[in-house]
Amino acid sequence: MDRNLDLFERSKRTIPGGVNSPVRAFKAVGGTPRFVQRAQGAYCWDANGQRYIDYIGSWGPMILGHGHPEVLAAVQSALGEGFSFGAPTEREVELAEAIVEHVPSMDMVRLVSSGTEAGMSALRLARGYTGRNKIIKFEGCYHGHADALLVKAGSGLATFGHPTSAGVPADVVKDTLVLTYNDVEGIHAAFDQYGSEIACVMIEPIAGNMNFVRASVPFMSACRELCTQHGALLILDEVMSGFRVDLGSAQALYAQAIPGFQPDLTALGKVIGGGMPLAAFGGRREVMEQLAPLGPVYQAGTLSGNPVATACGLATLRAIAKPGFFDALAAQTKRLVDGVVQAGRDAGVAVCGDCQGGMFGLFLLPELPQNYGQVMTSSNEQFNRFFHGMLDRGIYLAPALYEAGFVSGAHSDADIDATVAAAREVFASF
Ligand SMILES: *Cc1c(COP(=O)(O)O)cnc(C)c1O
Repeated sequence: MDRNLDLFERSKRTIPGGVNSPVRAFKAVGGTPRFVQRAQGAYCWDANGQRYIDYIGSWGPMILGHGHPEVLAAVQSALGEGFSFGAPTEREVELAEAIVEHVPSMDMVRLVSSGTEAGMSALRLARGYTGRNKIIKFEGCYHGHADALLVKAGSGLATFGHPTSAGVPADVVKDTLVLTYNDVEGIHAAFDQYGSEIACVMIEPIAGNMNFVRASVPFMSACRELCTQHGALLILDEVMSGFRVDLGSAQALYAQAIPGFQPDLTALGKVIGGGMPLAAFGGRREVMEQLAPLGPVYQAGTLSGNPVATACGLATLRAIAKPGFFDALAAQTKRLVDGVVQAGRDAGVAVCGDCQGGMFGLFLLPELPQNYGQVMTSSNEQFNRFFHGMLDRGIYLAPALYEAGFVSGAHSDADIDATVAAAREVFASF
């Protein structure tokens, strides 16, 4: 008997596709999604009681591993004080202070409940602040499912996009320019043509929704300079990379390479909630003061700054701020990527990978891709064989070749070794 299969069949009767977020359905890789019964540390267990080493970590939030004792204690204590008040609390101030302490580009921050809300609100704020409508995004970057951001590139150099979802009116995306990631000329051309009409450039600095692709330093530098020159805002969507690639987020790494580099606005999510529904956006004081109730840009949320979620996020941020946490996490992640890449090469399979902090990408390609088009040249069939081979061996990777992976502070040397050994077996059968 396969309880995962039974639950999936049952789920499909009342939940569309059997899942509450599409990628969970295993549509890209085929097979039956695992229904997770519980998780602890680096592991999760499915409905059959099968254990997996978890490299999804709830798609990023579980940077400490599951059920970290300090986080659990903070959540349990908060629960006893009440679930939600719809009134301000001291804890949300503490979380806001912790965020701005680590991310110096953020003078002020507003808490929300999902990364989608953070991206959507940052976009509205940028439009409200600049009084302009046009926005630039890049193919392969995901900023949540707000209408204006569900856009793919048309054809030509600097083109306005087409909706990627039914139900998004063409009118709503007519101001969204979709450009190629890491294309310095492309962004120059777009600003040459529309510079005075552009409200913002929105970008994942390390894109985790096309597996793992870094914005090159010249490209990020061009985005920053062009925004400044034309009066547009630079919005870094660090919902995934924030507090995941570095304690200062990806922007701290770009600031090392580009003197004085700071975005105007940043969207955060995932890690800052530690697994609870919590996200945030923030940035320059002058821009953030345009938000209601101070300014004319409306934004609100019944559960925003929820007391249980903020307790979880705060305990998570405190734990990852301890000296040495990120060094150890980065070393462990690198060991994983190096090990799997070597296993592939030893078997004559073209594999490459990259990582930063606790985030990684593995590609069944001879060299690292620089944009979405290059990522998608990877073979689906080969990835699916790799994915299922690993899953059969108790290794739970993201079920699509365009998703990044995550290592947590709970992954031990033995977990990494077991994963590399599994990869060796799978590549041997390629
Ligand atoms: C996950 C993600 C989002 C959306 O966050 P949700 O909490 O799923 O709404 C937005 N941007 C990026 C970069 C993400 O990775």
